[in-house]
Amino acid sequence: MKVGIVGAGMVGSSAGYALAVMGLASSVVLVDRDYDLAVAQAEDIAHAVPFLSSTHVEAADYDGLAGAGVVIIAAGVSQKPGETRLALLERNAAVFRDVVGKVLQVAPDAILLIASNPVDIMTQITQRISGLPSSRVIGSGTILDTARFRNLLGRHLGVSPQSVHAYVLGEHGDSEVLAWSNAKVGSLSLTEVAAQLGSAITQDVRETIDDGVRNAAYKIIKGKGATYYGIGAGLARIVKAIAHDQQDVLTVSSVTPDVTGVKDVALSIPRVIGANGIVADLMPDINASERDGLHQSATILKESVETISL
Ligand code: ADP
Repeated sequence: MKVGIVGAGMVGSSAGYALAVMGLASSVVLVDRDYDLAVAQAEDIAHAVPFLSSTHVEAADYDGLAGAGVVIIAAGVSQKPGETRLALLERNAAVFRDVVGKVLQVAPDAILLIASNPVDIMTQITQRISGLPSSRVIGSGTILDTARFRNLLGRHLGVSPQSVHAYVLGEHGDSEVLAWSNAKVGSLSLTEVAAQLGSAITQDVRETIDDGVRNAAYKIIKGKGATYYGIGAGLARIVKAIAHDQQDVLTVSSVTPDVTGVKDVALSIPRVIGANGIVADLMPDINASERDGLHQSATILKESVETISL
C-alpha cells in the first residue's frame, strides 16, 4: 500500500521512518510546502531502508499521492509568541482547508490519518472540510497515552504491556481520562492481578502512573523541545491495522455520534480498525467518576470546535 504523508517535519518524518523500516508500506511519499525539506527527509529515510525493508521512499508534490491508501496529515504551524490558542487553531484550520482539498483531489479514496495537534479538533475539522464519513477520518488521539498507560501498569506489575488492557479516553490532552476501573491483565481485573502478584495499586502508585501518562509529553518537550518518535510509531501502528485489515482495537480519535450525551464530537475511545478505516466504536464500561471525566472532556472539545469558523 502507498502511504502519503503531508508535513515532513519531525512528526511526519518520524512516521515515515517507522513505516519504512517496519516495511508496512510498499511506498511512502512525503509532501511539504517546503519541498527541499521533504526531499531531504525522504533521502535520509531512504538510506535507512536497505538495512531493514524494501519500502520505496520519495518526496513529491500532491500529484505523488495518487493511489495512496492512507494519507497521514502532520502539517501545521507552530504557536507564535503571544498568540492565543484560538488564533493558532484558526491558522491550523486554514492550513487544513488547503491541504485536505488538495489531498482528496488526487487521492479521493484515501483514509485520512490526522496527527497535527490539537489532534481531536483537527480531526473534527478535517471531517467537516472533507465531508468524508467519520470511519475514514482518524486522529491519532490517545494511541500514545494508552501505550504509556499499559507500559507503566505492566512495569509496576512485572507483566508484559501486551498483556495489559487499559485505555486512555477522551481528549489527547489535559482532560484525558485514564480508565482504571476497566483495566484488565489477561482477562483478570487489575485489582485481582495486583493482589495475586503482591503489587498493590496504592494511591501513590496510581498518582505516579497518572502523572507519567498525563505529563510525559511535557517532560519530553522540556528536555528536547518536541515529541516525535513515539507518535511516529503510533501512526505506523494505525497504518498497520489498515494495511493488513487486522480489525485491531486501538484508541483513536474520530467524530462520534454520542459520547455521554455530547453529540458529534471527536475524541478517543477504543475502536476496531481494518482496511476501510474504523469498523466499529467500543464504549468501555467505566465507573461514574470516569464517566463524568469523559463527559467533561467531550464538552471541552465540543465547545472548542464550535468556536472555529470554517
Ligand atoms: P511537528 O513537530 O508537529 O512535526 P514541524 O513544524 O516539525 O511540526 O512540522 C510541520 C510541517 O508542516 C513543516 O515541515 C511545515 O513546512 C509543514 N506545513 C505547514 N503548512 C503546510 C501546508 N499548508 N502544506 C504542506 N505542509 C505544510
